[in-house]
Amino acid sequence: MSHAHPELRTPPPLAPGGLRVIALGGLGEIGRNMTVFEHAGKLLVVDCGVLFPEEHQPGIDVILPDFTSIRDRLDDVVAIVLTHGHEDHIGGVPYLLRERRDIPLVGSKLTLAFLDAKLKEHKIKPVTREVSEGDELSFGPFDCEFLAVNHSIPDALAVAIRTAAGLVLHTGDFKMDQFPLDNRITDLRGFARLGEEGVDLFLTDSTNAEVPGFTLSEGDLVPAIETAFRKAPRRVIVSSFASHVHRIQQVLDAAHAHGRKVAFVGRSMVRNMGIARDLGYLNVPKGLVVDMKVLEKLPANQVCLICTGSQGEPMAALSRMANRDHVIRITEGDTVLLASSLIPGNENAIYRVINELTRWGANVVHKGNAKVHVSGHASAGELVYCYNIVRPRNVMPVHGEWRHLRANGDLAIRTGVHPKGVVIAEDGVAVDLVDGRVSITGKVPAGNVYVDGMTVGGATEASLKDRRTLAEEGVITVVAIVDADTGRLVEPPDFLARGFVHDDATFKDVVPLIEQALARAAEEGVGSAIQLEQLISRAVGNWAHRAHRRSPMIIPVVVDA
Ligand SMILES: [Zn+2]
Repeated sequence: MSHAHPELRTPPPLAPGGLRVIALGGLGEIGRNMTVFEHAGKLLVVDCGVLFPEEHQPGIDVILPDFTSIRDRLDDVVAIVLTHGHEDHIGGVPYLLRERRDIPLVGSKLTLAFLDAKLKEHKIKPVTREVSEGDELSFGPFDCEFLAVNHSIPDALAVAIRTAAGLVLHTGDFKMDQFPLDNRITDLRGFARLGEEGVDLFLTDSTNAEVPGFTLSEGDLVPAIETAFRKAPRRVIVSSFASHVHRIQQVLDAAHAHGRKVAFVGRSMVRNMGIARDLGYLNVPKGLVVDMKVLEKLPANQVCLICTGSQGEPMAALSRMANRDHVIRITEGDTVLLASSLIPGNENAIYRVINELTRWGANVVHKGNAKVHVSGHASAGELVYCYNIVRPRNVMPVHGEWRHLRANGDLAIRTGVHPKGVVIAEDGVAVDLVDGRVSITGKVPAGNVYVDGMTVGGATEASLKDRRTLAEEGVITVVAIVDADTGRLVEPPDFLARGFVHDDATFKDVVPLIEQALARAAEEGVGSAIQLEQLISRAVGNWAHRAHRRSPMIIPVVVDA
């Protein structure tokens, strides 16, 4: 297996006739998926998603891929192919289109509809090209063919890309549910046909590569959902992803069967389910979905609410209900069904919400105590089938952390792919396909780009470190009035502290240390305000660490007397 070396440099120009693949996101992490293909001077982008921040990234809304390496070449981008409508595949598109508005967006009907709703919020009218499975279309030197794949959102596509350098198959996110609600299964016959033609590079979804066996069918959730509805004495409140049309279909069916009426709660849920219903992806029996005002008048045992917030997102409906910050008040006897995954990193937030809901008297049914969720990704067994069907020459695992990529690569090798043909890359790593062989040729910038309120890229790793320091260690401001001629304090410095435990006497010991530092500076002829501020910062910082085992942020202010 080839691994990306940590000290790679900018790759050399691509060999004539070759194909370069660079993932700007999604490799070494779960989220912000984006892969750039380069051939004959043109670029084809597959997916452009966002990553959601974790608790150690305070104040950040979303994280984007770094567009630096393609910024000077946006005119060479022939299209952005969107494999499906999940945020981690389409969420970055508005930000890329801000840099060039008329890049054609290619995707299935539902994918483009979800994306269009998002672009409207950004006031962008995109150039789109709707495709469906079986379609073949060329974008510059890239001949694309689209294949149906099954995933936790309808209308997902894999894309085969033919160039003079060879045939590439990119699965997007997929699994192999043989009995999906819409009967649209992953097109293994298409995969086999491409395999016969000869797949030179196979990019496969690694998310569940460590999970043995096969991902269960969406239909396997029926008994647990049924039970929750049957046993519920009062209202049923369901939380799920606003894009999981099939999961919500199952909930609607159960509500209908148990004589309940349904209302959607939360902006994205209302919007997406409206789109899915209008386009025929969600089948809503007449009279089942009603307005909140109508629902409120019904007896509790005829009520079902479907809302967002299954990941404990603080602003989403479910968290606000848990915090008593929502018009819907959880009361004794309510049943809350969390029909969703538990995305790593969100555990604390989700369990906090579950605990709060339970405290208000709700019976919370979730993945941990009932079979109310199946993954949207292929497990190891499915991946092995794919390798044996496609028989690729080279494999590049995508969509996953290092351990997932590695596990996926190992599966490929077990099915007979030559270890030299399996390349484990991380974000930014250039993988070149030349004469049928893959090699790692360099690396481009692919760090996190933070969206913070209205700014993109304003917040940096350094400013996040400051935020963590402020949150965890507090801040001490030191105002010192210094005589410019003697370098001495004119009066004792003023200390202002926040988040740092202190009383009147706390800073007594640090004053002599500041005086010593200033005296030494005067002897050495160091006198600018900035230099003195640095000295004070160091003296106070060392003292805080030694005397209090804390590392607060120090803000020194030197005023000339
Ligand atoms: Zn997905």
